[in-house]
Amino acid sequence: MKKLVPLESQEYFSYFIQILKQKRKVKDILTEMQDTIELRYQRYCENKEDLSVIEVETFTQDQKKALLHCYEVSTKALESVKKQISELQEPTVRGKCQYCGIGVPTTFDHYMPKGIFPEYSVLPINLVPCCYECNNIRGENWLLENKQRMTVNLYFDDLLMVKCLFSEISYSDNIPETNFQMWSIDPSANNQSFEQLKRHYSMLDLEKRYKLQAAGVISETKRSIVIHTKLPCSREEIKQWLLDEARAKSDTFGINYWEASLMEGLANCDRFLQECLTEICNKS
Ligand SMILES: [Zn+2]
Repeated sequence: MKKLVPLESQEYFSYFIQILKQKRKVKDILTEMQDTIELRYQRYCENKEDLSVIEVETFTQDQKKALLHCYEVSTKALESVKKQISELQEPTVRGKCQYCGIGVPTTFDHYMPKGIFPEYSVLPINLVPCCYECNNIRGENWLLENKQRMTVNLYFDDLLMVKCLFSEISYSDNIPETNFQMWSIDPSANNQSFEQLKRHYSMLDLEKRYKLQAAGVISETKRSIVIHTKLPCSREEIKQWLLDEARAKSDTFGINYWEASLMEGLANCDRFLQECLTEICNKS
């Protein structure tokens, strides 16, 4: 997980005005609401570090429809905002959903859900590039009953820079199975960030989704090791290669990137190392 770069602007409201200008049917109702929307944008910007304090505004059904129309019926102005957000991200991050680290970010999630906060339907810093599955799981869910946010805000939260996602490989009927678990081994780790990350993983069902993905990655990794390794070689060398892979992956996608944790799990799995070595010997 890597932080995303927010679209910086002194005037987020001007994006709303550009979108409004390209509307016909809902233009009047949006124009009447301009002052309210501008105030609501200010409220968001003032509290972007902790959006949970923002109260729900009351809108009529027609007003709500018009606000959602700004996002759901596309305009050139909206497409331009989306393009600017995407192009701001580092190329490596652009191709991978940072909520999960699995999918491709083909959609935009409304961090404050548009069904509850329709006035933020086109606010650029409320639009988070993410994959379809994460967007779908989040839906309208964003706060727990105790007002804690369920998922990390990739634009404004301090991401935990301490490793806390680990994997363990076990074998069942000769098939490797991976269990991902989160724990904090560093007492200096920011506890709030750790708890926020735990809620994020739980909300997006990430341990289960990683487990499903892991089988394919393990199989590919083994194949790659067997193809590219020549004798003589040792288990230690295979282990070191896996640890180097883990390092490279976490440098690119963040310290708690699931594939990095998986590579470490494989490096610590004697049976996997032995299987690789046996297959390397058998091919020679
Ligand atoms: Zn995702």
